[in-house]
Amino acid sequence: FNKIKEGLSKTRHAFMEKVEKLVSRRKIDEEFYEELEEILIMADVGVNTVMQLMDELRDEVKKRKIEDAEELRPVLKEKLRELMKAEQFPMNIQEKGLTVIMVVGVNGVGKTTTIGKLAYKYKNEGKKVLLAAGDTFRAGAIEQLEVWGKRAGVEVIKHQAGSDPAAVVYDAIQAAKARNVNLLLCDTAGRLHNKTNLMEELNKVYRVIKREIPGAPHEVLLVLDATTGQNALSQAKLFGQAAGVTGLVLTKLDGTAKGGIVIAIQNELSLPVKFVGVGEKMDDLQVFDPQEFVEALFA
Ligand code: GDP
Repeated sequence: FNKIKEGLSKTRHAFMEKVEKLVSRRKIDEEFYEELEEILIMADVGVNTVMQLMDELRDEVKKRKIEDAEELRPVLKEKLRELMKAEQFPMNIQEKGLTVIMVVGVNGVGKTTTIGKLAYKYKNEGKKVLLAAGDTFRAGAIEQLEVWGKRAGVEVIKHQAGSDPAAVVYDAIQAAKARNVNLLLCDTAGRLHNKTNLMEELNKVYRVIKREIPGAPHEVLLVLDATTGQNALSQAKLFGQAAGVTGLVLTKLDGTAKGGIVIAIQNELSLPVKFVGVGEKMDDLQVFDPQEFVEALFA
């Protein structure tokens, strides 16, 4: 809990400070609602979600006949809790045999770092992990993945830069089978220009995995950069349609005061957030717990 609390500190300070100041004025009038709306928008909670939240708050105030704004703080927390959905969505990791996870996302969002962190996490849980260097396009991507592989103490299957990513992943699957690997994490390219090509490339990788291992890929994780706010939301929509995404990883939560984006994503997309990144180090990846998130925001 402390880790997520720390990771959220920029958001919490910006958000709670303003909320505290607002409720200390005590009076709930039109101006109060407008300011609260503004605070939520500034935290990147997203227009649609904010509108929904404001409607619900107004209803609650009427229903409970709340007059003192101080009393609104717990109501706000309760409403956020409801928006965040109660469930956690655990990773689909097979008890036996090989689990294959594809990791997708735009360059710079923290994809390679996240793969390194995941490798470290699952290795520590006693799994045999292998990485596939499927971003053969971006200069330095293969080397960067190797650095993370070394740090986490796991091997990397790679080809030359510019080669066919589907062929790399195919080789990695054969190596995983031969070496009794439990978990194969596949990196992929994230160039944004020439989108059609990228989506075709991702689909080809997807099909190779599906053909080689029944039931795979077990997860397709889309990595999003929380500091890009509403952009993250549109990337989720773009990739969600094309690449068979099953879950989200939101990185750099520690670097933004706009952590409200997590609330917008939970509320507006049907994709679950599975992990959040709260720093650059190997153990700075947290399993996402929606209720804990709200708790940390108000802590
Ligand atoms: P990729 O292009 O998507 O593979 O992105 P990288 O993994 O290379 O990450 C881009 C930058 O974001 C690097 O400087 C990482 O250290 C940084 N980064 C990744 N995840 C996090 C995070 O959760 N918090 C912070 N503060 N930085 C992160």
